[in-house]
Amino acid sequence: AKQEGRNQFVIYQSSFDDGEYKRFVFKSQFVKALADRQFFLEYQPRVELDSGEINSLEALVRWNHPDQGIVGPMAFISLAEETGFIVPLGEWVIREACRQIKQWQQKGLPPVRVAINVSAKQFLQASFVNRMKEILSENEIKPAFIEIEITESELMKDEQPIVDALKVIKEMGVFLSIDDFGTGYSSLQYLKTFKLDALKIDRSFIKDLPQDKALTKMIISLARKLKLKVIAEGVETHEQHTWLLNSGCHQAQGYLYSKPLGASDIEYILNE
Ligand code: C2E
Ligand code: CA
Ligand code: CA
Ligand code: CA
Repeated sequence: AKQEGRNQFVIYQSSFDDGEYKRFVFKSQFVKALADRQFFLEYQPRVELDSGEINSLEALVRWNHPDQGIVGPMAFISLAEETGFIVPLGEWVIREACRQIKQWQQKGLPPVRVAINVSAKQFLQASFVNRMKEILSENEIKPAFIEIEITESELMKDEQPIVDALKVIKEMGVFLSIDDFGTGYSSLQYLKTFKLDALKIDRSFIKDLPQDKALTKMIISLARKLKLKVIAEGVETHEQHTWLLNSGCHQAQGYLYSKPLGASDIEYILNE
């Protein structure tokens, strides 16, 4: 019987496709990873294009994996979404960002808003808004020090619970921006449905500046007409910077200004 069991396991395992196997491995490691504090945040400054001043920071999650070393979110966010673990992971990200903001405040650093990436799966939890309120009040953080980034493709699903949650979040005073703008091929209808603060132009548009500029121009003028801030992501060159500044883009993020940094490096630059 023992022999049989072992064979069955082998057969079962070999019938895994790549995706199933990855989900299986992720599930078996995630709970321990969260408990052992293997996740951590880095923060990428978002700067004002005209003055160079830091407008806010974007929190980006990383996994310090016991075997693989530091793993970026591209390797595990979609697995976390598929397995539902994005809910506890996303809540950890919000808690950790708020803990950090509070610590910076206690150290007397100039206050800075932190933008957090939130998945639609998190908004679909009925408890999301109340959790958010709790975490803010536990840490005595004003909602204006938090910004939520939601991707255009998730907004386009136009699901009522997301619409409702975002409305309440905005009314609380939390900032709200659309991430990866321009990649969703959308009807733009949702720009009327949601009260927004900013559009973040996806890096795929910024990459080809200043040669291929028609769509970026259009997005900047659309954002400005709607009285939204417009942010370019993935700015790497001076040419891109100059073009964006001259074209009326407000803010930017990218390796030209700073990579995502650990909390102590951020502290250092906030102190300057
Ligand atoms: P995103 O929200 O579009 O974040 C921007 C990504 O571009 C980050 O990659 C950042 O490190 C990278 N980046 C910034 N400047 C440059 C640049 O000049 N050039 C290039 N080539 N890349 C640049 P990262 O940290 O690997 O994050 C990837 C994605 O993972 C994020 O894309 C976001 O969608 C997701 N993500 C990260 N943290 C979280 C999180 O806490 N929750 C959720 N749901 N998603 C997250
Ligand atoms: Ca983002
Ligand atoms: Ca983005
Ligand atoms: Ca992205």
